[in-house]
Amino acid sequence: LELQALIKDHEETMANIYRYEDILDRRDSMAQLIIQELDKLKKSYGKKRRTVIENGAEAVFEEKKIEYLHIDVMDGIFVPSISFGMPLITSIRKTSRQFFDVHLMIADPGRYIEEFAACGADGVTFHLEAVEDAHKVIENIHKAGLKAGISIKPATPVEAVYPYLSEVEMVLIMSVEPGFGGQPFMPEAYDRIRQLRSFLDEKGLPVKIEVDGGLGKKNVRDVIEAGADVCVAGSAVFKKRSISDNISQFMKAFREKEALHKERLE
Ligand code: ZN
Repeated sequence: LELQALIKDHEETMANIYRYEDILDRRDSMAQLIIQELDKLKKSYGKKRRTVIENGAEAVFEEKKIEYLHIDVMDGIFVPSISFGMPLITSIRKTSRQFFDVHLMIADPGRYIEEFAACGADGVTFHLEAVEDAHKVIENIHKAGLKAGISIKPATPVEAVYPYLSEVEMVLIMSVEPGFGGQPFMPEAYDRIRQLRSFLDEKGLPVKIEVDGGLGKKNVRDVIEAGADVCVAGSAVFKKRSISDNISQFMKAFREKEALHKERLE
């Protein structure tokens, strides 16, 4: 509501600026000067409005206690799509205090660890399928002062990550084929999450399980119950209804499952 009031305030200011412009006689040289000043005002108010809206999304994340901002980086080689790179992360870093969970869907991700650290990543997750020496990439992520995550595509067996579990902070299980948003959740992922959860519990390893792809209010409870700690949602949060309402539904599911989760960790 506060955000809406601010936006309304800016809109009223803009309307007033336009009204003054209309009143002025454009043949008058003094009026020309005033019009120039009004132009400057328009620009600066336009900028302010954008800032208010950007900070608004961030305010929603903070209010709802969203811990991570998951950032999908795609290169058009490891996956068919191209998304964004360091400059965008640098610019959103300025308005966000969330943990930046950078998911690299790129070929040979080891080349860019330092750059991603410099632009504001808190954690980097790379694909096991995209590297030759995953141990070395994990080491470099840690050297850059970041949390390390390793991810596997739906066709890669869960056992493939076992050799790295004592090194990483997180394993990301893809529940869709990586590369595009808006895909349906693959139910095979449940067994994969369960398998990894029981292996981690058995070994007593403090590694988080993150699940990415096709998550929504219909399946998030089952995903948590299978053993996920971190749930990634794109379309389910940013499409339809309001971001705030969508996040509330997710948080409700988390709270409901919290007790169960705690029980399992104890
Ligand atoms: Zn992702």
